[in-house]
Amino acid sequence: MKSVIIVRYCEIHLKGKNKKFFEKLLINAIQKSLSDIPHKLAVMNARYLIEDFNENDYDTICERLSKIFGVHSYSPAKVVKSDFDEIAKCCLELVDGKTGTFKVNTNRADKKFPLPSPQMSRELGGVLLEKYHENIKVDVINPSFSVNVDIRESGETLIYTDVIKGFGGLPVGSSGKGLLLLSGGIDSPVAGFMLAKRGMKLEALHFHSYPYTSEQALDKVKTLAKLISYFTGGLKLHIVKFTHIQEQIHEHCPEELMITLMRRFMMRIAERISVKNGCQAIVTGESLGQVASQTVESITSSNSVVTQPVFRPLIGFDKLEIIEISQKIDTFETSILPYEDCCTVFLPKFPAIKPKMETILRAESALDVEALVESALQDVEIFEV
Ligand code: ATP
Ligand code: MG
Repeated sequence: MKSVIIVRYCEIHLKGKNKKFFEKLLINAIQKSLSDIPHKLAVMNARYLIEDFNENDYDTICERLSKIFGVHSYSPAKVVKSDFDEIAKCCLELVDGKTGTFKVNTNRADKKFPLPSPQMSRELGGVLLEKYHENIKVDVINPSFSVNVDIRESGETLIYTDVIKGFGGLPVGSSGKGLLLLSGGIDSPVAGFMLAKRGMKLEALHFHSYPYTSEQALDKVKTLAKLISYFTGGLKLHIVKFTHIQEQIHEHCPEELMITLMRRFMMRIAERISVKNGCQAIVTGESLGQVASQTVESITSSNSVVTQPVFRPLIGFDKLEIIEISQKIDTFETSILPYEDCCTVFLPKFPAIKPKMETILRAESALDVEALVESALQDVEIFEV
C-alpha cells in the first residue's frame, strides 16, 4: 500500500482554450514549492498526484500545498492493486477509528474490473459495517465522511476519505504583476494575499522614515514580505526613504493636509517604480472610511496623480473581516508588533477628512514635486525575499 496525495484544481476548469496556460503555471508553482522535497509529480486528468515522498515530509508537503493558489483541495490517499480484497483491506485501515455516518463512492474508470461501481460501493460498505458497526452507520444522503474508491485504468486503485480545502483562486502569474504598497499594518498584507489569490504576481514597496521610524519597523515589514512570499513564490521588496519628503511637507504645507499630500507622493513614486519593474497595477490595503485618508475624497486625491489602475481589494471590508483573514494567512501576529509606521510621523491632530482638490493643489504648489519624487527614486533599496 503506497501513500500519495491527490491535488485538485478548480476555476481552471472554466478556462477553455487557455486551460493549458493555467495548468502549466500551477504545475510550475507546485514544483517550485516542493523543489527541496524528494517526490514525483504525476498528471491525472484534471488532477495531480504527488507520490514517492518520504512519510516524514507529508506534513510539510500539505502545508506548502495549502499556500498554492489554484489548488482547490487535496487528499491524502492510498494506492493499492485493483483487487477486491486489497481494496477492502485498505478501506478498513482508513476507516479505523472513525465515527459517524458514511457512504462509499466508487468510480470505475477501468471497465475490466469485475464489479460495477454501485455494487462495489455496497459490498465495501458491508465489509466496513461488519467490522465497525458499533461506530459507523450508512447515510448516503448526508454522510459525515465518504470513502472514495477510484479504480483507475492503470490497474491501481486510489482510496481516500479526507478532502482538505485549499484557498482556491488562480495560479500566481496568470493575472499579470502588481506593486503592493506594503506598510507594517494589518491591511496591506491581506490586500496582497487577495490579489495573489486572483493570480497576480507581486512586488512590494515600503516607505520608511528613518530615523523617525526604527530598524525594527523595517524588519517587521521584511518579515511580512517573507510571509506573503510563501503565497507568491518569492517577492522583490523595494524600500524608499520617505523622510525628506515628509519634512518638506511638514515645513511648507498646512498641517491638516500632511497625510493627503504624503499619499499623493507615495502614489507618484509607486507608479514610477511599478512601470520600471513591469508591474501593471498598484495595490493598497485601503478600506472605505476606515481613517481620514480613506474617505472617497482622500482616495480621489491620491488616485488622481497616477494613471495605472489602483486595486483596493479591501475597500468594502470591515476591520474585523480583515483581521480574520490576516489570522488565517499568519500575518496578524507580525502586523500587530508595536513599531511605528511612517504615516504616524508628523501625524496632524486634525487631518483633513474631505480635502478639496483646489486646496490640495494650492498647498502642493509650495513644493518642487518632481524634484522630490526624483530624489526619492535615486536611493531605492531592494531586497529579494
Ligand atoms: P495598513 O494596515 O495596511 O497599514 P492602515 O489601516 O494603517 O493600513 P493607512 O495607513 O491609511 O491605513 O494606509 C493605507 C494603505 O496605504 C496601506 O494599506 C498601504 O497599502 C499603504 N501604505 C501606508 N503606509 C505605507 C508605507 N509606509 N509604505 C507603503 N505603503 C503604505
Ligand atoms: Mg498603516
